[in-house]
Amino acid sequence: MVGDFTHNKERFMSEMQATYLKDYLPPAYRVTHTELTFDLDPSATRVKARLHVERHPERDEADLPLELFGEALTLVSVAIDGQPLEPHEFQEDEKGLTITRVPARFQLDTEVEIDPDANTALEGLYRSNGMFCTQCEPEGFRRITFYPDRPDVMATFSTTVIGDAKTLPVLLSNGNPVEKGELPNGRHFVTWEDPHPKPAYLFALVAGSLEKVEDHFTTMSGREVLLQIWVEPENLDKTEHAMASLKRSMKWDEETYGREYDLDRFMIVAVNDFNMGAMENKGLNIFNSAAVLTHPQTATDATFQRVEGIVAHEYFHNWSGNRVTCRDWFQLSLKEGFTVFRDQTFSADVNSAPVKRIEDVSFFRTAQFAEDAGPTAHPVRPDHYIEISNFYTLTIYEKGAEVVRMLRHLLGWDDFRRGSDLYFERFDGQAVRIEDFVACMAEVSGLDLNQFMRWYAQAGTPEIDAHGEYDYATGHYHLRLSQRTPATPGQFDKLPLHIPVRMGLVGTKSGHDLTLKLTDESGETQTLGKDGVIHLREAEQTFVFTDVEEAPVPSLLRGFSAPVKLRYPYSREDLAFLLTHDSDGFNRWDAGQRLTLLALDDLIAAHRNGVEKVMDVRLVDAYRALLTEASDDKAVLAEMLTLPSEAYIAEQQPVVDVDAIHAAREFVRQSLAWQLRDEFLAVYHDNRSDEAYAPTPEQIAERRLKNVALAYLMSVEDEEAVTLTQQQLDQGANMTDVRAALTLLAHSDRSDLAEPALKAFGEKWAHDPLVMDQWFTIQVTRPQADVLERVRFLMNHPLFSLKNPNKVRALIGAFAQNRVNFHRLDGEGYKLLADVVIELNRLNPEIAARIITPLTRWQRFDETRQALMKAELERIRAEKLSPNVYEMVERALA
Ligand code: ZN
Repeated sequence: MVGDFTHNKERFMSEMQATYLKDYLPPAYRVTHTELTFDLDPSATRVKARLHVERHPERDEADLPLELFGEALTLVSVAIDGQPLEPHEFQEDEKGLTITRVPARFQLDTEVEIDPDANTALEGLYRSNGMFCTQCEPEGFRRITFYPDRPDVMATFSTTVIGDAKTLPVLLSNGNPVEKGELPNGRHFVTWEDPHPKPAYLFALVAGSLEKVEDHFTTMSGREVLLQIWVEPENLDKTEHAMASLKRSMKWDEETYGREYDLDRFMIVAVNDFNMGAMENKGLNIFNSAAVLTHPQTATDATFQRVEGIVAHEYFHNWSGNRVTCRDWFQLSLKEGFTVFRDQTFSADVNSAPVKRIEDVSFFRTAQFAEDAGPTAHPVRPDHYIEISNFYTLTIYEKGAEVVRMLRHLLGWDDFRRGSDLYFERFDGQAVRIEDFVACMAEVSGLDLNQFMRWYAQAGTPEIDAHGEYDYATGHYHLRLSQRTPATPGQFDKLPLHIPVRMGLVGTKSGHDLTLKLTDESGETQTLGKDGVIHLREAEQTFVFTDVEEAPVPSLLRGFSAPVKLRYPYSREDLAFLLTHDSDGFNRWDAGQRLTLLALDDLIAAHRNGVEKVMDVRLVDAYRALLTEASDDKAVLAEMLTLPSEAYIAEQQPVVDVDAIHAAREFVRQSLAWQLRDEFLAVYHDNRSDEAYAPTPEQIAERRLKNVALAYLMSVEDEEAVTLTQQQLDQGANMTDVRAALTLLAHSDRSDLAEPALKAFGEKWAHDPLVMDQWFTIQVTRPQADVLERVRFLMNHPLFSLKNPNKVRALIGAFAQNRVNFHRLDGEGYKLLADVVIELNRLNPEIAARIITPLTRWQRFDETRQALMKAELERIRAEKLSPNVYEMVERALA
């Protein structure tokens, strides 16, 4: 089923090798134990590896060569069972080392030299702020030593780290420290042992001048675990929240999944230069400092919540990922989808559950839907790749999590938990496949999940059309659902999926959920209660509900029970009704979104046709009701008051009209601000608490609500609001309020206030890279037309660097989300991004291949912009490309 890359397939396949799932073979040899010695030096680190190797029992044929991956390594020596190899006994190329003849069981010794300082790709061993650190997933270990670097080779590790005692007082690796000592020439060493067999991608090493914060956790069986967070000295006061989050996660995983931690210590290290959020290395998680450090004065509420979620995610990987890992990288979602699902549920449990769901789904429907509809669409389990680093995507992570969530809907929690227990028990210590996980779920529940497996194989977002009809005479309600999944690159014909649709029927008279009695053709009735899950399996299926006492409005896909687009011909009255009466918090919010989108549609059309825009009074009434009817859930209210983003509105349009969307959305914002000024002001004043900052759900909800209200008022530069904003900024109570205020000023036309505020903020925080990231972002997300020049100017700022992924994201990534400016009709926005991609292609291919994404979405725009975007993709294509960027560009232009 790989009909990809149609017209230039030949060129594509010949230049870069693709890897296919169907070609999987177990490794010819496995490693049972790995001994490593690192002699650290910034530009000439020596790595000695002793591998205990044996033939794999499933491929027990003599004469199979030993194949070791290795990249950017300088080979010093290689020996088998103590005998150095002659040059003719092995071959080395840019991919690795092949040894033609080896015994059935032997010790392999190699020594290589590597250059951490030259490593700007941030894969393998590199230096960040003078600190040595590693990132090995997925294929970074091969930049450290020659190794069968694939997840189905699992070994115990013993690692000795040698370094300068003065500059590198702290030497860390996985597991437990077993020996340490002084060495000549001011050097010292520590030896670490990890008793749990692991694939090389979970290896980690850290060495630097670090300080730690410590705590303890007692596991459910009474074992004491030492918890450490290692940071640079100036960040010691920013670890409290991560530590509290870690302890909450450990407890939650015991209570919710029965999973206990399995080593005597658990370490987290914060690193400034890091490609991703964090990494779950066994016993030694390494974090991007942005994903672990928090302080009320430097981090916003959103960051506090993100840190909590990522700390949990990496911790949960200890079981879903490390104890049970992936057989090959096609199975990536086995660990990532399940672990994202686990961290989402954790965050929902310890915060506001409906808000967590609303946030996750609005992100998902904007960003993952766009990926699934574009040229880089791929299934949750891809069947081929050129560069696996390109597949750490929203589809693998977030859609993978939605697929696991559907299993939870289909099985119910109790069976789902029994399936999870069976999975961990049966596969502990193994590297397995997605079907192994699903089989456990089928086995404990008795459900047939064969059709369900299509969710892993078919790319694209399924579309469901729903129609309902109520028969007053019989009291029957007919719900007809039809599904179809659009074609995606290489996949033209899609089969129907097994889709759980959670739903209710809300009585239009009573305003309450009616009891669902689902009746089949033979008259057999099944009572689903007031909130039930129906199983859509066919391309088209009609569900008949009987004894429906009054005409209902259907509430469908509650809680977003499946990652699909659902269309139903709701009238604005229906939506206003659901907005107040739906018992499902998520669908209440979604009714508001749908209502707003209908109004926006009219306004976008008006803008295009050059006719005067008229605000829908029903929308104003709905917002007034929200603002005045005292709500007991401020967190949900803040979400309800938030307009759909420009990106989400764009997702609804066949051809994206960037300017019309912006104008229509601004019109709604400003109309609401004019007409509901007093209500917004009241909300602002009612939610100014003077309690000391804490990242509690209650406080976060109040700040959010207050700042949403202020944002409406600032959209019309209301004089009182300007004063309040300036005050909020000057008081500087916490970064959430400061950042909100600074953003509102900077995005307003009051440059007389904005420029001095930005200058003062930049000077105050010049020493703190994470705050400066926010400073860069605030400036390049403003809607005014001068932004592109500002981006170019800021790229020369002494604190900006293309070598730091956080800076690239904060400045370039944020600019590319600034829709009106990035999509300027002179193409300068596209050109700027392409320039950066070309530069990063040399420095850091992984980041280059991520930052290019907005250009790959050219098909969504008008012809002029399409041509401009394609021209930039062609300009990139003419460069000598890394596999990462090559794969993205070829897919985009296929
Ligand atoms: Zn993960």
